[in-house]
Amino acid sequence: MPLNCGIVGLPNVGKSTIFQALTGTAAQAENYPFCTIDPNVGVVDVSDDRLGRIAGVVPTEKTVPTTVEVIDIAGLVKGASKGEGLGNRFLGHIRETGAMIHVVRCFDDPGVVHVDGAVSPARDVATVADELALADLETVEKRLAALAKSSKGLAGEALARAKRETAALGTLRDALGEGRPARNAGLSREDLEPSHGWGLLTLKPVLYLCNVDEDALAQDNGHVRAVRELARAQGAPVLKVCGKLESEIASLDDPGEREEFLRDAGLAEPGLAALAREGRRLLGLGTFFTAGPKEVRAWTFREGATAPQAAGVIHSDFERGFIRAEVYHCDDLFRLGSEAAVRDAGRLRVEGRDYLVQDGDVVHFRFNV
Ligand code: GDP
Repeated sequence: MPLNCGIVGLPNVGKSTIFQALTGTAAQAENYPFCTIDPNVGVVDVSDDRLGRIAGVVPTEKTVPTTVEVIDIAGLVKGASKGEGLGNRFLGHIRETGAMIHVVRCFDDPGVVHVDGAVSPARDVATVADELALADLETVEKRLAALAKSSKGLAGEALARAKRETAALGTLRDALGEGRPARNAGLSREDLEPSHGWGLLTLKPVLYLCNVDEDALAQDNGHVRAVRELARAQGAPVLKVCGKLESEIASLDDPGEREEFLRDAGLAEPGLAALAREGRRLLGLGTFFTAGPKEVRAWTFREGATAPQAAGVIHSDFERGFIRAEVYHCDDLFRLGSEAAVRDAGRLRVEGRDYLVQDGDVVHFRFNV
């Protein structure tokens, strides 16, 4: 599963504006649906104060933040699952992402055309969700038909497996048929074991990003409240940014000017810093660190990754030749003040292949290739 986020949403909700501010690159942001035909890929640094704090304890030459890859995916319209707008291409691009940032327009501006006539977050979210669910329904039905064929003549464990998969897909078909996303179909982790091969869009975690005008930053407007309500029902996280303001912040090169701008706007940090960080965390991505004299560095892993899998994030050789991991948690380092003290306190552990890496772990991998 890729460790990137795709920015999705209807045309003209502010995706490109936000993407541009996030990455500092010049994606086209124009008041024109379909202007972003090809997905733009950006690599975003993830600000994390633990990085500097580790470097404060472990002498090093430099610190390297981890990044998150963000893809600006062109606007979806009603009928995309049937090939409308950019249709299948759009769905294919989402398929290649690990998680979705669903931008919802929560600002009123008569100067910015709304594809469906008026701003209505609940309807907008439903339009996108319905297209994704319809595409998934088709995928599930195809998979069920293929399974029915391929499980003929199976016996024993193989047959049992095929039956379990068929049952899970049946549950998904019911949920999707009612317009519920696959992630809310109530399937267990075991049920979802074969899901990697399904390529379902609505199984991907989603975060709703409300794009508001500046005055709704301090206090939610009605549009944001509507998004919060539907997100609560799905157990999905919600963040709020002002795309316009973020793009102004991003355009300031001078850090001092930036600080001043943020202060004037009453923000502790750009809203998009929180998006990169919180989004990753809420979407099931964690950070582990490596710390040495050359660099202290943050890395991204998917929650539930074993030590060898996390090692593979650094280099495939590390995963292939994994021997063991020496691990402590950065909180222990901050509390005890040095790596030697961490070791003396018995907080440095040697972990094997089955160890599940935790957010905030500082890891030294031993490997042999
Ligand atoms: P996309 O089609 O979703 O990528 O939307 P764009 O980022 O191209 O934005 C569409 C239009 O909305 C542009 O004219 C933006 O300047 C405008 N826009 C984006 N964010 C905001 C915002 O927070 N407030 C207002 N008033 N306009 C915005």
